[in-house]
Amino acid sequence: MAQEANPFESLQEQIDDAAAYLDVRDDVIERLKNPERVLETNLSVEMDDGSIELFRAYRSQFNGDRGPYKGGIRYHPGVTRDEVKALSGWMVYKCAVVDIPYGGGKGGIVIEPKDYSEGELERVSRSFAKELRPFIGVDRDIPAPDVNTGQREMNWIKDTYETLENTTAPGVITGKALDNGGSEGRVEATGRSTMLTAREAFKYLDRDIEGATVAVQGYGNAGWIAAKLIEDLGANIVAVSDSSGGIYDPDGLDARAVKDFKNETGSVSGYEGTESLTNDELLTLDVDLLVPAALENAIDGDLAKDVQADIIAEAANGPLTPRADDVLTERGVHVFPDILANAGGVTVSYFEWVQNRQRFYWTEERVNDELERVIVDAFENLVDAYEKHDLPNFRTAAYVVAIQRVVDSYAQSGNWP
Ligand code: NAD
Repeated sequence: MAQEANPFESLQEQIDDAAAYLDVRDDVIERLKNPERVLETNLSVEMDDGSIELFRAYRSQFNGDRGPYKGGIRYHPGVTRDEVKALSGWMVYKCAVVDIPYGGGKGGIVIEPKDYSEGELERVSRSFAKELRPFIGVDRDIPAPDVNTGQREMNWIKDTYETLENTTAPGVITGKALDNGGSEGRVEATGRSTMLTAREAFKYLDRDIEGATVAVQGYGNAGWIAAKLIEDLGANIVAVSDSSGGIYDPDGLDARAVKDFKNETGSVSGYEGTESLTNDELLTLDVDLLVPAALENAIDGDLAKDVQADIIAEAANGPLTPRADDVLTERGVHVFPDILANAGGVTVSYFEWVQNRQRFYWTEERVNDELERVIVDAFENLVDAYEKHDLPNFRTAAYVVAIQRVVDSYAQSGNWP
């Protein structure tokens, strides 16, 4: 995996690229390129053997012009301050492009969760929740899951917050289990928006998704659900991968059977009847659709020269470096950006928060219908901007729509102080 780009610099470059097409003052754009504040803390947590271990943790609140800060919490050894800042900025523009009333935030703990027991992870999560308590709240900042976190961690953080605040506040965090105030459809929401984006993209480009060949990098929550739902549209998933490597079958894989195999063995590698391939080989396969669904910087400028897919739908956040974007634009590859293609996660988080506030819960059908409306509307707005401003690619179009919305809200509120 390429590591050449600093994700925060990538974010700033993406904003500059779009700002060039907008009539917005430079000083206002500068404000939109930097977080409002970043919490950096060292959690000291007791291990099972009685020793104390320190974990560096961050929460970045990037911009709150359109509503409370919103964004996930990642547990990963590669978490850095700049990565968290970048991810929090992408959340601002993601919420704006799908027009939900949130700003952007993100958190992370530098930890390899596989190396710790469940009890240790619970104490790490509760320790972080205690640090976050003055910064978060139903109307202030609402965390959610991200890489290596899920319902379990969200339940722990909610419980810690509620205990310390002596209240019930399910809307303080989203991505919770159903019995703990979660929403129907939340687990599948990110992959569902990737499927909807791919479906609309094929339609817009006048291509048939039925029978199309698809490669998916990363077979976690976002990647596997996207693979399953795209397969349900009649496409042929020919390759998938995870951190242990990839598998390829030109006749098509069965997305659900591969997931069962990964659940049993811990990885997709070795699934019967497949050839193994590296992640770089997967990313450069000759397929109709490529879905990067792992981490940032999966494709850099060099690798982009070898990408053979015609369409890319980004399930991961920031999987292409700006150089990769330039190369792919030049080569006519259509990239549908993360801030649209994975926005289902935050959109259904928003629905979860609405349900928590009303203490009134929706059916899965209602959640999926509302999500489809939001993503299809956002896709249409993006394509309108792309055509109206004659923009070089769909990422720039997404930022043009999103930045304009944030700027409008800021202009109407005025500056403080
Ligand atoms: P996850 O932990 O469930 O899955 C990540 C997957 O990527 C795993 O299968 C892992 O093995 C694989 N992976 C890690 N490094 C890899 C590498 N070098 N090559 C190939 N595969 C690799 O995480 P997730 O929630 O699916 O998140 C994946 C991406 O989607 C992240 O960029 C995340 O920010 C983004 N995302 C997730 C959500 C959500 O709701 N889960 C929402 C929006 C965006």
